[in-house]
Amino acid sequence: MVSLPQQALDEPGAWHAGDLLILRKSAALPDRCVRCNAPSQKRLPMKYSWHHPGYYALLLLGLIPYVVVALAVSDRAAVSVPLCELHMRTFGRWRLAGLGLLLVSVLLIFGGMKYHLGAAVILPGFVVMFLALVLVLVAKNFLVPRKIDHSYVWLKRAAAPFLASLPAGPSLL
Ligand SMILES: [Zn+2]
Repeated sequence: MVSLPQQALDEPGAWHAGDLLILRKSAALPDRCVRCNAPSQKRLPMKYSWHHPGYYALLLLGLIPYVVVALAVSDRAAVSVPLCELHMRTFGRWRLAGLGLLLVSVLLIFGGMKYHLGAAVILPGFVVMFLALVLVLVAKNFLVPRKIDHSYVWLKRAAAPFLASLPAGPSLL
């Protein structure tokens, strides 16, 4: 029988430091909704990526240099996020609205180009596409990465009762 190191048994996998939720990448969050702390039966698989904010300076050189470097230097984390029935439904509605708008925008842009309908159809298509992206971002913003490294993920915006239910610990920032 393999015995775990004592430190791994003692150290909690998830804790809070102020309004930050800190999670060991190998650990799981408890079965309570991160938005209201109600019991949760379902989990939403979320992927987060983060890089040092200094890399945004590369945007001065253009979008492509920034994207190439950001893809290379970003740390990523997959987190299985517990949500209650209500907040899972809310997330589903926002995401569905975002995907619906995305479909409308694609129809306007590509339909407008294919049938030569002109700027009056194509330009609103880009506005609708922007709104769709905003909706998808809003749907996902109940947890936002503050930092990610090779072992831990730091998340902002978890509900105060959920944070209070976790042990307090060091921020490690
Ligand atoms: Zn909830």
